[in-house]
Amino acid sequence: MNEKSEFDSELFRTATSQLDAVAGRLGLEANIHERLRYPRRALVVTVPTQMDNGRTEVFVGYRVHHNTVLGPTKGGLRYHMDVNLGEVTALAMLMSWKCAIMGLPYGGAKGGVRCDPSAMSARELEHMTRRYTAEIMLMIGPDLDIPAPDLGTNEQIMAWMMDTYSMTQGRTVPGVVTGKPLLVGGSAGRREATGRGIVYALYQAARRLGQELKGWRIVVQGFGNVGAVAARLLWREGCLIVAVGDVRGGVYNPKGLDIRQLESHVAEAGTVAGFPASEAVGSAELLELPCDVLIPAALGSQIRQDNAHRVKASIVAEGANGPTTPEADTILRDRGVTVIPDILANAGGVVVSYFEWVQGLQYYFWRESEITARLQEIMTRAFNRVWVIASKEGTDLRTAALMEGVRRVADAFKLRGLYP
Ligand code: GLU
Repeated sequence: MNEKSEFDSELFRTATSQLDAVAGRLGLEANIHERLRYPRRALVVTVPTQMDNGRTEVFVGYRVHHNTVLGPTKGGLRYHMDVNLGEVTALAMLMSWKCAIMGLPYGGAKGGVRCDPSAMSARELEHMTRRYTAEIMLMIGPDLDIPAPDLGTNEQIMAWMMDTYSMTQGRTVPGVVTGKPLLVGGSAGRREATGRGIVYALYQAARRLGQELKGWRIVVQGFGNVGAVAARLLWREGCLIVAVGDVRGGVYNPKGLDIRQLESHVAEAGTVAGFPASEAVGSAELLELPCDVLIPAALGSQIRQDNAHRVKASIVAEGANGPTTPEADTILRDRGVTVIPDILANAGGVVVSYFEWVQGLQYYFWRESEITARLQEIMTRAFNRVWVIASKEGTDLRTAALMEGVRRVADAFKLRGLYP
């Protein structure tokens, strides 16, 4: 296929260059490699939405299924101004590897609407979400493709999606989306799952490196569903959260921030900025602060060729999807920084989404302790499998994780054969 395709975008180039880098190591057949570089299907929709001022605005939305060889597809829905076909396609590809590494019976998918949710009212968001859901109806379903929250979306949006789908079926279908509110078929522990998964991954990293998690100095970029939970749980484990940043600002205290107080401040002020007992820090500077662990948990392409050599952390745990560009990855590796890649570090979310889906299909719900225990088991097993591959092959963790994820998908392709 022509490289200058409709999928071209920065994140798509990152995702395909990561795939290409392991294709040789795995000895991937050329046709399987080619099929994995592009999505199985991609849908582009327009989403006319009546705004509060009476005007109708037309948004552009996408839903992409990367591949369906391991089962129905799974992946989040993103509301952000940077959303485009190439980005959503790359994110769908990452979901394929992530699900395969975790041993989940899913292919990867992703969706998105190009919009600024922070500038929209709840009513506008509901209208847009319902119309988007109606437009992608032919792509989703409990055994076809199951959306979930991602950047800019949340439980309420999942409830509207579930309701819209259910109304067209004439019955409640909880298994069509995950990340729903508890009362309408959500799972205990789903909200915290991604942040909690990062903690389990870091716990294993500490063990493998012969260190103690307790006392580690941590910097977190992003204070949303992923960053805030990771910060809170690591703080409770005895780590020092020395800096946190969000879209509106950052705060730094080398002696550690009190995360409970910071959360109360954010609940009132809507940002970490202005938190007492801290100094302000800019977004570029935040990534370069002295610390043991840096958790980029905001947008993609944050650690790049121009700043990677200034990152002082010895571990980067990727809470966001695609926060490190391939050039930055090489720089970090050469400098001996351990990068726990997105497809491993942030997989806790989709693991508990899987639990939510299973519970929804069975109409039988588990206790939170059961969910966290199973999450810990899956994260620990996956981390150690990847660590062993990295040691055996002499690679970094991203290469090892990709080798594991891509190999599983490629092996399934071979077992199933080519239709017709
Ligand atoms: N959006 C999350 C991710 O990127 C979760 C996806 C899901 O739960 O399906 O992994």
